[in-house]
Amino acid sequence: MTRHRMYINGQRTESHRSAWFPVYDPSTEEIIAEVPDSDASDIDRAVQAAAAAFASGPWPQTTAQDRGRLLFKLADRIRAHAPALAELESRNCGKPIVEAEFDINDTATCFEYYGGLANKVMGHVNPVPDNALSFTLREPVGVAGQIIPWNYPLLMAAWKLAPALAAGCTCVLKPAEQTPLSALEIAGYFEDIGFPPGVINIVTGFGETAGAPLVAHPAVSKIAFTGSAAVGKLIVKSAADTVKRVTLELGGKSPNIFFADADFEAAIDGALFGVFINQGEVCSAGSRILVEKSIYSKFVEAMVEKSKRIRLGAPLDRETKMGPLVSRAQYDRVRQYQELGKTEARLAAGGGRAASHARGYYVEPTIFADVDNNARIAREEIFGPVAAVIPFDGEADAIRIANDTPYGLAAAVWSRDIFRAFRIVKALRAGIVWVNHMQPTYVEAPWGGYKQSGFGRELGPWGIEEYLETKQVYINLNEQPIGWY
Ligand code: ADP
Ligand code: MG
Repeated sequence: MTRHRMYINGQRTESHRSAWFPVYDPSTEEIIAEVPDSDASDIDRAVQAAAAAFASGPWPQTTAQDRGRLLFKLADRIRAHAPALAELESRNCGKPIVEAEFDINDTATCFEYYGGLANKVMGHVNPVPDNALSFTLREPVGVAGQIIPWNYPLLMAAWKLAPALAAGCTCVLKPAEQTPLSALEIAGYFEDIGFPPGVINIVTGFGETAGAPLVAHPAVSKIAFTGSAAVGKLIVKSAADTVKRVTLELGGKSPNIFFADADFEAAIDGALFGVFINQGEVCSAGSRILVEKSIYSKFVEAMVEKSKRIRLGAPLDRETKMGPLVSRAQYDRVRQYQELGKTEARLAAGGGRAASHARGYYVEPTIFADVDNNARIAREEIFGPVAAVIPFDGEADAIRIANDTPYGLAAAVWSRDIFRAFRIVKALRAGIVWVNHMQPTYVEAPWGGYKQSGFGRELGPWGIEEYLETKQVYINLNEQPIGWY
């Protein structure tokens, strides 16, 4: 059994209790590694290291250029190890290797983007009256606590670390307990690249025992979280005690809306891709598929037919289009929703465990048709390959159903009528809206949700803003006394 130690203050380390927990290969259900089971005391050690590195030592003296160069080096190192990182990622979370390769490329691109942005952060001169000069300085917010999910492990680490480091923050990152291996792997590059000890700390552990103390820690200035809505709500409450800055990305129940005038073949592909990519373990999954009544029956039939071509298989097989779910718990959860769906709607495809696989957390790509938007399978985030297809009658009905959800992360609309498409774009209450596609995600463009999908934006220039404070500086140019008294 390989034990992978975590990374605190530039050192590989166990938890202070020498406690470990297992990490699985979800395609075989076998344990592939053990990692430290941190508690509040380990988190405190990591936060103290990050706080010390923020306050003194070489990091506060680095220029924006220096930080940019470090991020470029990190990106280069990730590219140099891309095949091994993709394989590790694929094994640990079960995603198809071809998708993992895209993720690793996007991970490096994210570090490159923020490497380039580091020295483009600028303040303002403020046009105040009087004989004075007022300007703003943009300063790093401090120690950032970063808590990430298991669906895109290394990419989510990059979305968190890259803007924070570019801004000059120091970081304590906690990967999801299911998928800590890739983040621990890149921790091996930090020292050699030249990140001072304490600037990036990678801690492993469970949400309640390691995540919660990170959120509560008074020396942490900001929490960036991607994960479930339930945990997001706990984080906001806990962060209130120390008035931390918080950004949340909490997933959703995103509508993928198809009008009769959409290109039919492209639409069927887009409906399947939107909900089944990465086993449906995607925060922006197009899990509510809204289809105009005039094409509804034909659409469902074509979706079902094409879904049979989705090849389930071993994550490392290059032909695989869908791997196992990440964990036993997630498998059980998705299986429950498959059963629930059978009581709420018409099962059109899949609906169970994948019979082709005796071991591993494989479920069938599942399509429920004639779903009422009030059904639980249309309201609750399933985070697996389960689609709810819902008919609609005209534009107003589509908008009403699409927005009738507590979430608002993403949405897509398919139509050849640009007037209609843009009307729908404006009417949708969602942070990301695609037209005639679903899921493309770029580091240059903002990512984040409306409503209960969270607040704050990641990626692009928006992403670095969340790690910056604004200091107003006033310089009196008048050498006389104020003359008030
Ligand atoms: P899921 O249940 O689908 O795994 P979570 O939202 O629970 O999704 O997990 C996302 C991340 O949040 C993980 O890194 C997890 O360890 C962490 N987490 C879970 N519970 C808490 C909590 N109470 N406080 C802080 N972090 C948590
Ligand atoms: Mg949880």
